[in-house]
Amino acid sequence: MLHPPPGPSARPLNAFTVDVEDYFHVAALSSAIPRDSWSSRELRVEGNTERLLQILGERGTRATFFVLGWVAERVPGLVRRIAAAGHELACHGYSHKLVYTQTPAEFREETVRAKNCLEDTIGHSVLGYRAASFSVTRQSLWALDILIDLGFRYDSSIFPIHHDLYGLPGAIPEPHRVSAPSGRTLAEFPMSAATFLGLQVPVSGGGYFRILPYWLTRAGLKQINEQLQRPFAFYLHPWELDPGQPRFEVSAFSRFRHYTHLSRCEARLRRVLGDFAFGSMEEALQQRGLLATEARRLRPLLATPPLAHQPSVG
Ligand SMILES: [Zn+2]
Repeated sequence: MLHPPPGPSARPLNAFTVDVEDYFHVAALSSAIPRDSWSSRELRVEGNTERLLQILGERGTRATFFVLGWVAERVPGLVRRIAAAGHELACHGYSHKLVYTQTPAEFREETVRAKNCLEDTIGHSVLGYRAASFSVTRQSLWALDILIDLGFRYDSSIFPIHHDLYGLPGAIPEPHRVSAPSGRTLAEFPMSAATFLGLQVPVSGGGYFRILPYWLTRAGLKQINEQLQRPFAFYLHPWELDPGQPRFEVSAFSRFRHYTHLSRCEARLRRVLGDFAFGSMEEALQQRGLLATEARRLRPLLATPPLAHQPSVG
C-alpha cells in the first residue's frame, strides 16, 4: 500500500545514495583510461566502500548503494556486506556507458545483466536504477519504459539542470511519478539543485559537494528542505574519499572536477550526515507516498560465484 504524503510540518527524509564504481569508470577520465584496460587496474572500490560503510554505520544512517554490474561481478562479497549492513542495494547499470550513447536493445541487455547479477548475489529483487552520469535525458527517455519492463519500481537518473554531460532542464525537481513514452509511470527521485541569485546550483553531492564551500552546500540543502519542503537526493562515489588513487593526465577541467578536495571529503561527509536527516531512497520515496511498501521477491542464492554467471538476456 502507499503511504499518504507527509504533512507540511514533517521533516523531509533525504535519500543518501552511493554510486559504487571505481576511479577508472568515471566518464571525465575516459579519454585517459581505455575501457579494455579496466580489468588490469588496481581495484580500490572495495576498500573505499568499506570506509563509507563504516562512516554510515557510526551514524546509524541507512543508504542506497547503486552498484555497477561490472563491480558486482568482481566483488560479490562487497555487495553482500552492503546488504548485510542493512542498506538498500540498487542498480547502476553494467558498463557505465551513457544511456543516450546506447541503442534501446543494448541498454536492455546490459541492464538485465546488471540486475540479475545483483539479485542473484543478495537473493532478492532490487527496486531502483540510476544511469551512469545521470544520462537519462530528453534523447533517452525510452529508457524509462525499459526500466518498467524489467520490473524496476523507481529511477533516479534525471538531473533537472543544464550540464555538459547530462541534464533535463525543466524536469520536475522533486520526487514524483514520471511518465515514460508509453504513458506508463515510474517513481522518479531526481537529483537536487538549490537556487542562489537566480542560478541553479547542484549542491547535493559529487564534485559540487567537494568543490563548493561547505557553508554554501549546507545553505542550499536547507533551502530545499525548509523553504521548498522537499527531500533531496545526496550522492557520493567511493573514490571521492580516496586521495591516494592513481592520477591521470586529462584536461584541466576534468582534473579539477575529479581531484579537487578529495582529502577533505570525509570530514565534510561527517558534517552533512550530522546536519540533515537521511535514509535510503526506498524509504524516502515511501515517505512521499510514491512507492508501495511490499515484500521483496525472493530469488534463490547462487551456489556458484557470480563471475561464472551467464546472464539471460531478453
Ligand atoms: Zn556512475
